[in-house]
Amino acid sequence: MLEIKSLFVNYGSRQALNDISLEVNAGELLVVIGPNGAGKSTLVRAVSGALPLAHGSVHVNGLDLSRLSPAQRARQIAVVPQARNLPAAVTVYQSVLMGRTPYLGWLGHTGQHDHHSAHAALERTSCLELVERPVGELSGGEQQRVLLARALAQETPVLLLDEPTTHLDLQHQSSLLNLVRQLVVQQQLAVLMVLHDLNLASIYADLIALLVDGKLKALGRPAQVLTEANLTQVYHVPVHIIPHPEYGSPLVLPDGRKAAGL
Ligand code: ADP
Repeated sequence: MLEIKSLFVNYGSRQALNDISLEVNAGELLVVIGPNGAGKSTLVRAVSGALPLAHGSVHVNGLDLSRLSPAQRARQIAVVPQARNLPAAVTVYQSVLMGRTPYLGWLGHTGQHDHHSAHAALERTSCLELVERPVGELSGGEQQRVLLARALAQETPVLLLDEPTTHLDLQHQSSLLNLVRQLVVQQQLAVLMVLHDLNLASIYADLIALLVDGKLKALGRPAQVLTEANLTQVYHVPVHIIPHPEYGSPLVLPDGRKAAGL
C-alpha cells in the first residue's frame, strides 16, 4: 500500500532524513516516535510530496508519487498537518469541501458527489453541528476534527497525521485516536501517524518506527520497539516498562527521581 524506500531529505547542506524505508499496509497503523528534531515532521512532509527528496521513492499501490501531479498525488495521500493552518474566517463546511480540490475541474465547480463526500466526512468526525461556524472560533479539539474531516473528504487510501493529539486533553486525545483506529479497521486505510506520547503509541499502533537523528533506530511491534534499552539510549532518561493492565502492551514510566539523583 504505502511503500517508502530509502528516503533521504536535506535542508541545504544538512541531512534531515537518512535512508528511511517503511511499509504500511491497508488496515495498518504505523506510529512514528522519536525525540524533538528527529525528523518526524520532515518525514510526513517528504512522504506527502511537500518536500523534495534527495534520494528514494514513495509509492502508493504501486504508483510512484514523484511521477504524479500535485492533484493526482492528493488523491492518494491526505495529510492532517500539525499547524492549524485553516483560514479563520472560512466556515467548517467550506474547509472540509477544500478536501475535494484534487477532484475538481479547472473551473473549481463542486458536484453532488463532492458534497456527499464532505457530508460523510463531517458525519464521521462528529462535525455536522459545526458546519456553519467559522473555523477561527473553534476550540483546538474541534479544529483538529475539522482537519481530519478535510483529509477524509479527500478519499485517499493513505492518511498521514502529524501529532494530532498535541494540545488535546485526555478525553479528546482518546476520541481522536479511537476514530483513527476505527478508520484504519473499517475503511482499511493505511495510516502513518506521528505521536509524541509513547504510551498512546503503544496502545494504538500496529507498528512503531523509532526515529533518531534522521535515522530509523528501530521498527516493529510496540513490545519490540518500546524497550528499556532503546528508550534509555534515545531519550537519555532511565525508564521502567510495565505491561498495560488490560492490553498487556508496554507502558513507559520515566524514572524521574532516579534521573534527578533522588
Ligand atoms: P521532529 O518533527 O522530529 O521534531 P523535524 O522534522 O521538525 O523533527 O526536524 C528535523 C531536523 O530538521 C531538525 O534538526 C530541524 O531543526 C531541521 N529542520 C526542520 N525544518 C527545517 C527547515 N525548514 N529548514 C532547515 N532545517 C529544518
